[in-house]
Amino acid sequence: MKYVYFFGAGKADGKGEMKDVLGGKGAGLAEMTRIGLPVPAGFTISTEACDYYFKHGRKYPSPLRAEVSKNLKHLENLTQKKLGDAKDPLLVSVRSGSARSMPGMMETILNLGLNGKSVEALARSTQNPRFAYDAYRRFVQMYSTVVIGLSKEDLEDRLRALKNSLKVKDDTDVPAEGWRHLAAEYKAHYKQKTGKPFPEDPEEQLWGAIGAVFESWMGEKAVTYRRVERITGLLGTAVNVVQMVFGNTGDNSGTGVCFTRDPSTGEKTFFGDFLINAQGEDVVAGIRTPLHLKEMAKLMPKVYRQLEGVREKLEKHYRDMQDMEFTVENGKLYMLQTRTGKRSPAAAFQIAVDMKNEGLIKPEEALERIKGEDVERLFYPILDPTLPRQEFASRRITTGINAVPGAAVGKAVFTAGDAEAWAARGERVILVRRETSPEDVGGMFVAQGILTATGGKTSHAAVVARGWGKCCIVGAEKLEINAEKKQLKSNGRTINEGEWITLDGGDGSVYTGEIALVRPEPPKAFATLMKWADSVRRIGVRANADTPHDARVALEMGAEGIGLCRTEHMFFKDFEHPEKSIDRQQAIQEMILADTVENRRKALDKLLPFQRRDFIGLFEVMSGLPVVIRLLDPPLHEFLPKDPAKQEALAKSLGITRDAILRRMEQLKEANPMLGLRGCRLCIIYPEILEMQVRAIIEAAIDCQNRGIKVIPEIMHPLTLDKKEMKILDDATRRVADNLISKAQVKLHYFVGTMIELPRAALLADEIAEIAEFFSFGTNDLTQTTMGLSRDDAGRFLPEYVDERKAAILPADPFQSIDIPGVGMLVEWGIRRGRATRPKLEVGICGEHGGEAESVKFCHRVGMDYVSATPFCVPIARLAAAQAVIEEKKHKRK
Ligand code: PEP
Ligand code: MG
Repeated sequence: MKYVYFFGAGKADGKGEMKDVLGGKGAGLAEMTRIGLPVPAGFTISTEACDYYFKHGRKYPSPLRAEVSKNLKHLENLTQKKLGDAKDPLLVSVRSGSARSMPGMMETILNLGLNGKSVEALARSTQNPRFAYDAYRRFVQMYSTVVIGLSKEDLEDRLRALKNSLKVKDDTDVPAEGWRHLAAEYKAHYKQKTGKPFPEDPEEQLWGAIGAVFESWMGEKAVTYRRVERITGLLGTAVNVVQMVFGNTGDNSGTGVCFTRDPSTGEKTFFGDFLINAQGEDVVAGIRTPLHLKEMAKLMPKVYRQLEGVREKLEKHYRDMQDMEFTVENGKLYMLQTRTGKRSPAAAFQIAVDMKNEGLIKPEEALERIKGEDVERLFYPILDPTLPRQEFASRRITTGINAVPGAAVGKAVFTAGDAEAWAARGERVILVRRETSPEDVGGMFVAQGILTATGGKTSHAAVVARGWGKCCIVGAEKLEINAEKKQLKSNGRTINEGEWITLDGGDGSVYTGEIALVRPEPPKAFATLMKWADSVRRIGVRANADTPHDARVALEMGAEGIGLCRTEHMFFKDFEHPEKSIDRQQAIQEMILADTVENRRKALDKLLPFQRRDFIGLFEVMSGLPVVIRLLDPPLHEFLPKDPAKQEALAKSLGITRDAILRRMEQLKEANPMLGLRGCRLCIIYPEILEMQVRAIIEAAIDCQNRGIKVIPEIMHPLTLDKKEMKILDDATRRVADNLISKAQVKLHYFVGTMIELPRAALLADEIAEIAEFFSFGTNDLTQTTMGLSRDDAGRFLPEYVDERKAAILPADPFQSIDIPGVGMLVEWGIRRGRATRPKLEVGICGEHGGEAESVKFCHRVGMDYVSATPFCVPIARLAAAQAVIEEKKHKRK
């Protein structure tokens, strides 16, 4: 196997397509060399070598040393310089670069090859001792920190002290002698810390640097970045050893970073920063304020024109926006990197649409270029990107799981009741809880954002918040929440009720204080691209929505119906008339506390008008589109108040004692409520609940139909596990519905179906389909029941299961992206068996996976009719559905 690939003098062993082996940077350098751009020569050690290194206890593959040696010779011959030479030394940079861009997450060492002798040679040959010693001190600093791991602070303190003693402010004002002195000081520090002298031998330096770059692949930053960006399946990082060119030799030199289009807006303008007399790291680190590229046009018109030419050539060549690094050494331009540029979500849409319109790419490619996250992030408020991040790093108090992206700012409150009271006074609040329960929904609704110490991405808080597009951080385990004292402690700080905090759902960070947010406007290009997606996709896209308001948002997002209305959410909050919520809450609590059928019916009668009104609202908004309404699902104890004061108030209003309430709660208590009396079991045990809910649905449908509104009700029973059970439910549903329809003397068509949430239901789908007219896979529960993982608690240890440095058992959180091998097999089986009985069986999905791109593609492949997602995820599903068709076509062509 070949491990090292050379490039230089217009020829390259590798090429642009070899990103997997050469990494993005190596592939870009090879390709730029091939197409005749000015690139300094060098070689790339492949990602396969890195893979070998980690798989063999951090050992290099045996041919590597010889290959590196051979390529180094080749480089020395080509450049007519020698590494570490005492006359005309070759200097190299050693840079990382993996197949997927991970900006700033891995390491780089510049100016390698300098030692006591070669630095003097460099000073002589360039006739610029200041430059030579500056390069040397930079190298010693980088080597000490990156390869050896010495503290950067310690070295920077010494630099600051030097500048103070010389009474200068900027690095550019330090004279040669100053840099020489600093380099010597760094080397002494090195010896003191490591017990060994700083390596003079350039080969030793080189191997130290190669090892450090490989190691940085497993560094904390890189691992976290891959987890957050869900980057998996890569071999590792490549190492690029490239001849150094210098932008800091004087005013005829410089360095810059530029994008072929504006990465924030997508506009087709040449965008970038430039520094005269500087090295690349100065631009990235933001030590000096760079100039706009326009200035470069004035200062170096010839080089600028050449750079514009490169811009055009690269964009045409790669047919995507490029992010380039360049250096000008004594008036000569060198390209050091080109890669697909990172862009804001808005720019991603703009660039895809523009490039399609410019004829650069096909519409399918435009669709493929957008990621689910781009769509998601388009709609959430975000921390103002113009604010310097490093400034508020010191304000971070903890990080949790970024369940819903976006950002939120508000005053910390610790109970849902307080959230409501504060919000009613016009305050912006963040609701902080150990965990949330449905009881908290009112407080969650009025909060700007939600922060919990427990839970995972499909925990209650996350599911509810996502539905509202509300920033939510869960599983922030390090938070010590004291709800009684109304304070939280974390990272040595205490936040009391009423103090400002800011949540960044982008990365799960929690900050003290108020950080400015901006809400991005979805660009026109968004609508254009979505139209293209709709014309390509075959699978339908519905929304999970419980209220007319959510249903309207869902329509705006392009939903083609409601795939799941969770009726229990209607018992907590009157979303149209919030002040009346208490009536509903009391009615449901009365129903639960009832000890006779009569009393239960009485309470249900009170709930009937509320539910009917809600369903009318949904049918009106969804006019002519299907609405899947699921009957009551959660365990009843969830509806009873836990707070003693609320228990007292309820007892009073019902004319019973608090003790009676506590007794009933004790009776309802279950060791495993998720596997207990919930789902359709509630209606098997208490058929009067079914009667009330079906009645509300059918009466609402009749009312709407009589007013000329087309309705397509689909009544759905949750958590069924057997055909007999389904038959009882179906019979009861039809008895109530048909009776109402015949009494009203109307013709109304409705469907009765079930959720598939238990492995047994999926396995016996052929039998269940004898009764059920449709299936909707409830993959939240199906994941929970198939994998035996609690959806509310698994967040505590799942991160370790997916962390590639830890257990690395699963590629992703199965509650987020469907577990295709396991849960997916049951889904596929269920569909096949169900349709064997009922060929036209309508099949959808309504778990959180319906809004996650990879899962949507899976749903397309297994032949579902639709996916249903929370309203803000509907566009993600539309796009992923189109991408699934494109992928399928490509696959068939192969
Ligand atoms: C599911 O289990 O996938 C589902 C949609 O139901 P819920 O999340 O309400 O349990
Ligand atoms: Mg469920």
